[in-house]
Amino acid sequence: MISGKDRGKTGTVISVSVKDSRITVEGINLYKKRTRPKQQGQKGETVMVARPFAVSNAMIICANCKKASRVGFKVEGDKKSVQKFRYCKKCGAKI
Ligand SMILES: [Zn+2]
Repeated sequence: MISGKDRGKTGTVISVSVKDSRITVEGINLYKKRTRPKQQGQKGETVMVARPFAVSNAMIICANCKKASRVGFKVEGDKKSVQKFRYCKKCGAKI
């Protein structure tokens, strides 16, 4: 994480949205979400939820070169089997 309130933190990527270049990382960019009571008389709960953020705000630690690196996205394959994957911009290894 290179910006915002969680600057310097690291975490595991939970989900990646290639389409809008946003990622969700465990324990990063948490915000409180109040759930509404499901039944009358029941209390709503406040839960911490990791919110997606722009991938440009994050750095990944590359498993190959062990460096904090920016993540790039590549699309590979033909029409039948298109694969989207992330890669390390420093050494080019798939992540
Ligand atoms: Zn690398």
